[in-house]
Amino acid sequence: MRDRADLVIVGGGVIGLSLAYHLARLGFSDVVVLEQGYLCFGASGRNGGGVRQQWSTEENVLLMKDAVRRYRRLSQECGYNIWFRQGGYLFLARDDASAATLEQNTKLQNRLGVPTRLISPAEARRIVPVLNLEGVRVCAYNPTDGVLFPFPVVWGMARIASDLGVEINTFTRVTNIDVRGRQIVKVVTDRGAIATRRVVNAAGAWSPQVARLAGVELPNKPYRHEILVSEPVKPFLDPLVSDLSNGTYFSQTMRGEICGGLSDPAEPSSMESGSSLRFLSRMSRSLMRLVPQLGSLKVLRQWAGYYDETPDGQPILGRVDAVDGFIQLNGFGGHGFMMAPAIGQLAAEWILRKAEHPIFSTCDLGRFARGEQRRETFSIG
Ligand SMILES: Cc1cc2nc3c(=O)[nH]c(=O)nc-3n(C[C@H](O)[C@H](O)[C@H](O)COP(=O)(O)OP(=O)(O)OC[C@H]3O[C@@H](n4cnc5c(N)ncnc54)[C@H](O)[C@@H]3O)c2cc1C
Repeated sequence: MRDRADLVIVGGGVIGLSLAYHLARLGFSDVVVLEQGYLCFGASGRNGGGVRQQWSTEENVLLMKDAVRRYRRLSQECGYNIWFRQGGYLFLARDDASAATLEQNTKLQNRLGVPTRLISPAEARRIVPVLNLEGVRVCAYNPTDGVLFPFPVVWGMARIASDLGVEINTFTRVTNIDVRGRQIVKVVTDRGAIATRRVVNAAGAWSPQVARLAGVELPNKPYRHEILVSEPVKPFLDPLVSDLSNGTYFSQTMRGEICGGLSDPAEPSSMESGSSLRFLSRMSRSLMRLVPQLGSLKVLRQWAGYYDETPDGQPILGRVDAVDGFIQLNGFGGHGFMMAPAIGQLAAEWILRKAEHPIFSTCDLGRFARGEQRRETFSIG
């Protein structure tokens, strides 16, 4: 392992590796990535791979338009097939408030060039004929949203970054960040120390622990989020379907498996990552209500990962007041995978001072102290 670097990235998940990949492609590879486990150890190896542009703020719609554009060409760029399939996202609203949100979001997305359509349940049934839409008021459908396979995204970005000179150290845990005055001096790991003046905290659900090593407190909290995958069945589902009434989402993989999860408002913040019978039974009931024919489907596997949640559901990006050169890229909740290519590019340009972007001042840690929280009304998986 190198003993000095211009920049050290803590976390070998999609956010840390996307930054490393984009920095290296811009010609900056004096970078070391430190990952306590294997690549994909954290949320990046446990997620549903959903990628949508249906958001409720202009910033997030534009960010996700850019991310989709980047994901469309990533397979070619990194020589790994990431299986990005644009089958669309279909949102179902059952009450007035959700219907109004979909209507408002659709107008915003259309204005920004995203071809979302507000459609009736009858039209939705033409897209997915097996759906039981009893009780659904209205749906929003964007055919250019999609689903990808997370592992090759992470592996592909890691391979290109490493080919371009970035050093990626797996099974290397950061145990201290040595700060003198306001200045970072070195990062200490269980395999030795690296002298550096710049550190990026891309440690996902572990970010508050990593920040504390440098004396910085983050408001992020980890929450378990469970998901399952079924045996493969004949293809019948193009879009990812998401029921806004309880946060159920499910899609069908290229191999025919049904993969999905749902929110659990009773889930406390913790670093618990076991699987529960409660999730299995809630998810099965919700799925059977939406597609009764799935009643005899066998579940092959269920697992869990963490959502790294901030108080306003938006990530923490950019500098902190107390420590120079300590950059945050964390707090992505259930959306870090879809945002990663756009965030990686923006952060790389910003770090190299090639371009400013307002996201690093509006989404910084200081916003909580300033009382400028950024509520996204459409925070669903
Ligand atoms: C079940 C589930 C479904 C999801 N579905 C979606 C979805 O459909 N679409 C979407 O966009 N997002 C989804 N997400 C969210 C998405 O997976 C995350 O937002 C994203 O992967 C976060 O990436 P990250 O790099 O910030 O964190 P992680 O992937 O968790 O990476 C952080 C890494 O930091 C490492 N680390 C921590 N502490 C240290 C240390 N001290 N030293 C060294 N390394 C350290 C960890 O081991 C970890 O590998 C889902 C998440 C879950 C759990």
